[in-house]
Formats: sequence, C-alpha cells, structure tokens
Amino acid sequence: MQTETINSRPLSEIPKIYRVLSSAYGPMGWWPGETQTEVIIGAILTQSAAWTNVEKAISNLKSRGLLSFEALDKAEIDLLKSLIKPAGYFNQKAKKIKEFVKFAGKEFNFSIRRMEREDISSIREKLLGVFGIGEETADSIILYALNKPVFVVDAYTRRVLERHGIVKGALKEKYLNIQKIFHCSIPSTPENVEVYNEYHALLVNVGKLHCRKKPSCEGCPLKDVF
Ligand code: SF4
Repeated sequence: MQTETINSRPLSEIPKIYRVLSSAYGPMGWWPGETQTEVIIGAILTQSAAWTNVEKAISNLKSRGLLSFEALDKAEIDLLKSLIKPAGYFNQKAKKIKEFVKFAGKEFNFSIRRMEREDISSIREKLLGVFGIGEETADSIILYALNKPVFVVDAYTRRVLERHGIVKGALKEKYLNIQKIFHCSIPSTPENVEVYNEYHALLVNVGKLHCRKKPSCEGCPLKDVF
C-alpha cells in the first residue's frame, strides 16, 4: 500500500504516540453507553455536538423507553425531535436516526447480532449508504458498537498528526489514507480492538485538553516526543 504520507517515520511514530498518551492519561473507558444500540445512537447524536449535550438527549430517549431500534422505528418523528433537541441539529439528527433504524430493520431485522456477522468492508459499505452516516460515524459504530478493528479518524487525530508532520496539513489528506497509517502500524486484527478503542479516545482527550485550534503545547504529553 502506498500513499504520499506513509513512509517509515509515521509508521514508527504511531505506536510511540499511543504509548505516551496511554501512560499520561491511563484507560479512557470508551464508549460510554449501556448497550450497543445506545452506542450507535450516541455516534449519530455526537456529530457536531459536545458529549454532555448528547448525554441529555440519550437520557431523554431512555426515560421514554426509546433506546431500541424497534421503539425508535415506531416513534413519532416530532417526539424524537423534541427528545434529542439538547444534542443540536435535531431535525437532521431525527431524520438520520429514523433512516438508520429503517436500514437496521430492512437489512438485519433489527438484530445487532446479525449486524455483527458482517465483515468490516461489507458493513462499512452498507453503513456509508445510510443517510447521514459518514466515515467517522460508520467507523465509530463498527469499532465501538460492533467491536471490530477499524480505526476512527476524527478532527483531533488529523490535527495532531498534521502538527507533528505525519500527514499533510490544511486538511488535504484523505480520511482513508490517515486510517491506513494506523492500520499499517497497528494491524487491524481482533486483538487490537482494545488498542484502537483506547487510541482514538486518547487522541480526543489530548485534542480537547491541548491540541485545540490554538495549540497549548506546554504540559502536553506529546510536546517532547518528536
Ligand atoms: S498541543 Fe502541541 S505538543 Fe500537543 S499534540 Fe498539539 S501540537 Fe503536539
């Protein structure tokens, strides 16, 4: 596999970043969610939203017994909109949730077990065909709800790698190329599900604490790594 950015340096830096962040922050315990369905709905609701607001929306859904595919499928869309309002963009997100549960019913008879039987490339392709599911959301569902080894690339991942010269700047590198750097460095095998799980959460953590739009490198665990 060949991309402009994959060379020996990034591949060796990827495990190093993981070790440093893991030792600085310890286990992150992601993804918060009591059930796989809750993780999937959370992955949709968290698009462009702070997690604290997503939690309020999930709590509203839970209090109305709406955290199952079947219940969400039957729910009135206006009720859904009002319950998920705290997560923002509620018109769009209600439509996304409705489209997702329709897909889950049609393709998998509302069964997560059936969804889990798909291989990664097949489920990824199917998820990307659902309204409102982009690469980051699809991969979050595959990793955190279905426990399959796929690395989730988000804005923080991109930013940290760009600022350390591992990928091109100015948002030019494609999602899949960045993902390949991780998959080549830490193989996409069932044994590495936990590492992928932790690694993404650690990058989000360092992004929130330090690698914001304006970086705050002082005190950042990655400051002296490169
Ligand atoms: S805050 Fe600075 S040291 Fe930390 S990841 Fe960002 S650029 Fe690197």
